[in-house]
Amino acid sequence: MTTVYVTHSRYREHHLPGHPEHAGRIQAVWQHLEESGLAARMQRLEPEPLDEEHIRAVHTRDYLTALAWLDDQTHITHLDADTYAGPKAYEIARLSAGGAVGVVDAVLSGEADNGLAAIRPPGHHAMPSHAMGFCLLGNIAIAARYAQRVHQIERVMIVDFDVHHGNGTEAMFYDDDSVLFISTHQYPFYPGTGRIDDKGQSKGKGYTINIPFPGGHGDASYAAAFEQVVWPTAARFEPQLILVSAGFDAHWTDPLASMRLTLTGYAHLTRELIRIAHQFCGGKIVFVMEGGYNLEALGNGVQNIAYALLGEETISDPLGPPRGSRAEPDAQSLLDQIRQIHGL
Ligand SMILES: [Zn+2]
Repeated sequence: MTTVYVTHSRYREHHLPGHPEHAGRIQAVWQHLEESGLAARMQRLEPEPLDEEHIRAVHTRDYLTALAWLDDQTHITHLDADTYAGPKAYEIARLSAGGAVGVVDAVLSGEADNGLAAIRPPGHHAMPSHAMGFCLLGNIAIAARYAQRVHQIERVMIVDFDVHHGNGTEAMFYDDDSVLFISTHQYPFYPGTGRIDDKGQSKGKGYTINIPFPGGHGDASYAAAFEQVVWPTAARFEPQLILVSAGFDAHWTDPLASMRLTLTGYAHLTRELIRIAHQFCGGKIVFVMEGGYNLEALGNGVQNIAYALLGEETISDPLGPPRGSRAEPDAQSLLDQIRQIHGL
C-alpha cells in the first residue's frame, strides 16, 4: 500500500497569535506524524503553489485579484470577522490548494493508492467570491474540479466531517450532479447553513446531503449516519474518487464546538470511508485537513488517518471518552427524516 503525504514547511507562515487557526496546528500534525514514525512510511510530496487557472474553476477572478493584492502588504489584513491574511497569504493559500491537488494527482495517476493532504489554511468555508471562516481558497472543491478536468474523472464524492457545515464547498457544487457533497455538522451553529432540506438545485438536486446534528451527539450518532446515509448514498452515486474534508473540531475537547466524538469514533468514520472507497472506487481516497482546534485531538486524529490509509489496525486515543455521564441524544428520527428526504 502506497500512501502519499503532502505538506509544506511554509504552511506555518500563515499565523496570527491568539487566533484558533494558528501555525501551531500544522506543527502539532507534523510532530505526531514524525514521532509515530508514520511520516517516514508515507511517500512525501512537496506541493507547488497552484496555478490560478485551476483556482478559477471555483473562485471569481475579482476575488483572486484581491487576494493577490495581499501579497504586497506588510501587515495582517482581516478579510472578515474571523479570517486573517498576512503578507504572502495568497501564496500560502495557493500552496495549500496545491497540496490537495498534489495528492489527487498522485492517486489518480496511480503513483499512490491513497493520500493525506496535511495543509492549511483550511478551505471548506471559502466562497466563490470571498474569504470566510478562516478559509481563503476552497482547497477540496478546487481538487475535485481538478480531478474532473485533468484526470477525466466524472463523479467525485466529497464527505465533510468537520463540525462546521462546509458552506463554501456546498455553494460551489449546489447545482452540479457530478460532485456529491455530504456533510455532518453541528446545527444550529457557525456558519448557519446546512439545513436538512437544503439538497441542491436544478440538476444538482439530491447531490447535496446535509446531516445537521444538534450539539451533544457523538460516536453512536455519527456511526449510524455513516451506516444509514453515507453508505447507501455512495452505493447510489458510485463515486470514482472520494475526497474527505477532515476536520477534528467535532471532538469532545474542541474549544469552539460542542459535539462529543472521540478519537476512536473519528477513526471508525475514517475507516468506513476507506472501506467505501474500496467498495466503489478502487480505494481512491484523499483526506484533506480542515478544522480542529484542540491540538491533541487534531494531531492524533490525523495520525489515525495515516494508520488507516496504510492499512494498519492501530488507533491512538489518549484523550478517551468525554467526561461526565450525559447520555448521547438519539439520532434515529433525524436520520429517518434525511433518508426520507433523499429517498434512501
Ligand atoms: Zn470546523
